[in-house]
Amino acid sequence: MPSERRGSGALKLMPKFDTQYTREIICLYCGHAEHDSWEVDFGDGLEGEIDFDCSECGKRFRVSRVVDISYVSNKAKESDV
Ligand SMILES: [Zn+2]
Repeated sequence: MPSERRGSGALKLMPKFDTQYTREIICLYCGHAEHDSWEVDFGDGLEGEIDFDCSECGKRFRVSRVVDISYVSNKAKESDV
């Protein structure tokens, strides 16, 4: 069976949304973007995984929060030389 994922308007199958590493929680089923994603409680840690109910279609899906922390070190402004 030839797959035509890139074909325009070929949404015969279940619509697929970009749900990977998005800035907001995207519903797996309706594509709704949860604008208050930062308010969602993922537990104590920065990262976590929860069952989430879409506020639009009400379906439940699994959401992981992935935190990517970076640090930049620079000289202090008032360094004793
Ligand atoms: Zn939904």
